[in-house]
Amino acid sequence: MSAAFLARGACPALDRPMPTGDGLLVRLRPLDGALVPAALGRLAALADRHGNGMMEVTARGSLQLRGLSAGSAPRLAAEVAALGLDLAPAPTVETAPLAGLDPTETADARPLAAALRAAIARSGLAGGLAPKLAVTVDGGGRLGLAGLSADIRLAALPGTAAASGPLWHVALGGDAATARALGAVRRNDAPAALVALLRLLAAAGPTARGRDLDAGAACVALAPFLAAADRPPAAAEAEPVGRFALAAGRQALGLGLAFGSVAAATLVRLAERASGCGIEGFRLAPGRALLAVGPAEACTALAAAAGALGLVTAAGDPRRAVEACPGAPACASAGLATRDLAARLAAQAPALLDGSAVLHLSGCAKGCARPAAAGLALVGRNGAAALVVAGRAGDPPVAAVPVAAAPDALARLAALCGRERRGGESAAACLARLGTDRLAAAFEDRR
Ligand code: SF4
Repeated sequence: MSAAFLARGACPALDRPMPTGDGLLVRLRPLDGALVPAALGRLAALADRHGNGMMEVTARGSLQLRGLSAGSAPRLAAEVAALGLDLAPAPTVETAPLAGLDPTETADARPLAAALRAAIARSGLAGGLAPKLAVTVDGGGRLGLAGLSADIRLAALPGTAAASGPLWHVALGGDAATARALGAVRRNDAPAALVALLRLLAAAGPTARGRDLDAGAACVALAPFLAAADRPPAAAEAEPVGRFALAAGRQALGLGLAFGSVAAATLVRLAERASGCGIEGFRLAPGRALLAVGPAEACTALAAAAGALGLVTAAGDPRRAVEACPGAPACASAGLATRDLAARLAAQAPALLDGSAVLHLSGCAKGCARPAAAGLALVGRNGAAALVVAGRAGDPPVAAVPVAAAPDALARLAALCGRERRGGESAAACLARLGTDRLAAAFEDRR
């Protein structure tokens, strides 16, 4: 198998690796995010053999393998193909990580997701759509997809159950709070309704996204299928790390990857432990996490092993508040040792990392780890460590220090936050109250 390399910003896949600062990167997504422990272990072993041994679960719950070369990427693709995994085709139709397992969900979204994938394949539209186009099918429950942005969203409407299941609300471009609502359709009409919207997107061109569609045209396309104007109730963004009770004494154990990344060798060991203690399978989860599913006692045993391997087992762990790209020395573009800084900060600055605000550590202004804005971003720029407040890595910085002074500068910010937080105030609220000027002065040690 030969590999055609992608331009940066495109959507990498096994046969379309993307150049990054630490070599080629591939991204893969098992159907419904599901992997049995043996498959996870084999993928991790392949990542170790063919790449630089670093793996990631992305903010959308896809698996990334890093540090491949022009020679090793095709070998990896061939060996992954030989594993016979069910991988999700493009455009991705994503379900919640506990779909079909969560007794609190409104509907198991997986059968509808399969019907949507089949309808997309029959339509022949896939090749004319934007490479990163995403469809979410959210059956609700404790780890629903409300916080995940998508081009087209379908969400089960509670209290609308019929013989064919609940109605599915359709919305365009955004997360549950920001997407444009179009109305609700019956389950059996959902595939045709989705294809009608995809036809509009294909007609708008190969880069068109859900947010670009004219709402009037989308309403006209959907009109033959609309059954109700109801909207799903508001839902909070889900935190996948922790324990989740399932039916019949089973549990899901959510494990976070520290700063979104893990050594492939660690995942090999985790998969071995999981097999040994009776874990039935894993689900990849949005929010850079893995869910292990099995009997409660198996989850308890794996939690102890995972903690010892350096994975995050508690939602309040300060590491969950830090997002860091590979940085130096892994990435040739990096001006900061992001992961070293992140580990140091997570150990020393819990007052800053209470989970209310994200700290983004980026080796350069590209901002691979987090395209969105963060409460604070520390960015390697022009040989310095630059501070961005409430912005993206590429936004103009408000302060800068020499790279060697970055740990002390972050420590000063953390100390300021620790001193100034009022009773019950979150770190995010405290940072907002302090304001950019005080944060910049503390960062640069200006008195
Ligand atoms: S953001 Fe990080 S991983 Fe991405 S190119 Fe820059 S240094 Fe490399």
